[in-house]
Amino acid sequence: MKLKIGHLYPDLLNLYGDRGNIRCLQKRLQWRGMEAEVIPYPGGSSIDFENLDLILLGGGSDREQELVCRYLTTAATAFKDWVESGGVLLAVCGGYQLLGHYYRTADTTIEGPGILDIYTEWQPERLVSDIILESPLFHDPVVGFENHGGRTFIGDHKPFGKVIYGYGNTGTSGYEGVVYKNVTATYLHGPLLPKNPEVCDNLLERALRRKYGSQTTLEPLSDKLEHVANNTITDRYLNKKKKSSRK
Ligand code: GLN
Repeated sequence: MKLKIGHLYPDLLNLYGDRGNIRCLQKRLQWRGMEAEVIPYPGGSSIDFENLDLILLGGGSDREQELVCRYLTTAATAFKDWVESGGVLLAVCGGYQLLGHYYRTADTTIEGPGILDIYTEWQPERLVSDIILESPLFHDPVVGFENHGGRTFIGDHKPFGKVIYGYGNTGTSGYEGVVYKNVTATYLHGPLLPKNPEVCDNLLERALRRKYGSQTTLEPLSDKLEHVANNTITDRYLNKKKKSSRK
C-alpha cells in the first residue's frame, strides 16, 4: 500500500518546520511496511489534486499568506471538490486560516476559497501558549504550541478539540480548530504529528480507507517515548493550573 502526500507551498508556508509533520506521516507508514511518496508544490505550480491522498498546508506569516492566497484562488474549485470527495487534509495555523472565507489582518483582507465556513480576524494581542486539547477522536490529550494574531470563528463547524489549557480559536470560545469531512484544521503547529501520534495515525487511516477500503487498519506502534512526552506536558500544565486555582 502506498500514499501520495502533497506538501502545498513549502517555500511559503514553512514557519514551523512543517516538513517534520511530513516526515512523521512518511515514517509511520514506512514502519508498517507501506510506502509514502511526498510531492512538494511550491507557489505557482499546478496541483493535480486527484493524484493525491493526503495534503499538508502549513503555517506562515501574514505576508506569506497574502502570496499564497493568490495561488489558492486559482486552485479553489479543484481543491474544494477534492475536499468534498473526502480528500484528507491537515491545515495548520496560517493554512487553517486560509481555508476560510477571509482573514482580516491589521492591514488588509486576505480572501480565502471558503472550503470551510469560517472567518478570521486579527487582534493586536497575539495568542501565544503551549496548548492542551481534549478531543473525542483521541484517547490521549492533544498537546502543542500556538502563536497567532488571528481569531477564527467557526460557526456551525465541529471543533478539533476542547481547550483544556491555552487559547484556541478565539481565546474565549473554549474550542480549537475544525474537523470537517476528512479535513483537520488547527492552530497547533511545530511538531504536531510527532507529539501526537494518534493524530498522525488518524490522518493516515482516513487516507488509506479512502484509497483501499473501509476495512483498512493500521497496526499499532509502541509510541512509548511519545506517551512519556505527552504525560510530561499534561502533568506540567494541568497540575500548574490546579495549583494556581487553589491560590
Ligand atoms: N499569520 C497568522 C496569524 O498571526 C498565522 C500565523 C501562524 O501560522 N502561526 O494569526
